[in-house]
Amino acid sequence: MKTISHIQENKESLREGFFGKFGGQFVPDVLKPILKELEEAYRDIVPTKEFQDEFAYYLRHYAGRPSPLYFAERLTEYCGGAKIYLKREDLNHTGAHKINHTIGEALLAKKMGKKKLIAETGAGQHGVATATVAARFGFECDIYMGAVDVKKQAPNVLRMKLLGANVVEVKDGAATLKEAVDAALNAFINEHKDVFYALGSAVGPHPYPSMVRDFQKIVGIEAEKQILEHEGRLPDYLIACVGGGSNAIGLFHNFLKYPEVKIIGVEPLGKSEKLGEHAATLTFGEEGIMHGFNSIMLKDEEGNPAPVHSIASGLDYPSVGPEHAYLKEIGRAEYVTASDKEAIEALKTLSEIEGIIPALESSHAIAYAIKFAKTLPKDRVIIVNLSGRGDKDLDTIFEITGLTV
Ligand SMILES: *Cc1c(COP(=O)(O)O)cnc(C)c1O
Repeated sequence: MKTISHIQENKESLREGFFGKFGGQFVPDVLKPILKELEEAYRDIVPTKEFQDEFAYYLRHYAGRPSPLYFAERLTEYCGGAKIYLKREDLNHTGAHKINHTIGEALLAKKMGKKKLIAETGAGQHGVATATVAARFGFECDIYMGAVDVKKQAPNVLRMKLLGANVVEVKDGAATLKEAVDAALNAFINEHKDVFYALGSAVGPHPYPSMVRDFQKIVGIEAEKQILEHEGRLPDYLIACVGGGSNAIGLFHNFLKYPEVKIIGVEPLGKSEKLGEHAATLTFGEEGIMHGFNSIMLKDEEGNPAPVHSIASGLDYPSVGPEHAYLKEIGRAEYVTASDKEAIEALKTLSEIEGIIPALESSHAIAYAIKFAKTLPKDRVIIVNLSGRGDKDLDTIFEITGLTV
């Protein structure tokens, strides 16, 4: 049994894995030495010049970085307020920001002498990003996916199989993401000698939130250089959607040192403010531990992770990366919401007036940016993280909008 005193002691001894009171490593004893090996590799290998040079090489030549920072001139005119720039993570290989951290994870796994990458996936986006780097770097690959999701996400299952991954159908319980995480964690414990567990966002026990952030922070580093070229000054606002929080922390992190840059994360309000109909964790949640870390989470009456909903399958997670919980607590970042309906409207608007079909996840950030830009003077500058492209969402969009061919 985990007691309060055990948790206190753990917090004390792991302060470097914390963001204020959030983060940490609340895991069963069998996982501790396994995570220790990863922590040491993250600490000793990732900062070396050799690793960083290799990482930069693959980001440039394989993922296609730097991604453009594009001035959305027609969207800006349409809003009639602040200038809107889009950081085009949708143009990366595989169509989203996730490739940034999976390349980092694969390179680290190689240096650690691992033979296999494993990952959990819900909608399949992280599964595809992991299967992609497994193919490129010559790893075996097991992707754990709930049987219900396998049925719903046939194109992504096919992509993973084409990329040579083994898709492990998890049939326990509700057979969705939570069961997939449990199965992947079990495999991690059983096969840890040869296996690297590639987590899909800036969540999980230490060192994952810091490590995934460090692999994603290139987004904000590039954006600073690019906005200085465009505007000769820093932006006034950064806006990104928040699921687990990896694309958002990727854009935000490099700008935390500039207090004049305001930071806004956008959570999914889903269908309504009712528990079970949204996934706006920081907006409605309370402090709690799940999946090995302390953060803000949405709880049901028994204190377990609550059911969540968002039209964007990448955003429906009942907790959030601990660094975001901390940035909210200290007032450095603000977190707002956009509903399913607003996200779909934003997707249509950006498609029609900029010729860019955004992912439903990213459409939450676009929705808030449109609303917000209208309230600002024309000399203000906003950067929105366009975390991914919308091709993967066509089925959902067909269903919702009633559009037919
Ligand atoms: C997975 C995903 C997200 C949500 O994950 P974060 O870790 O919050 O970034 C957002 N946008 C796209 C396109 C995704 O695929």
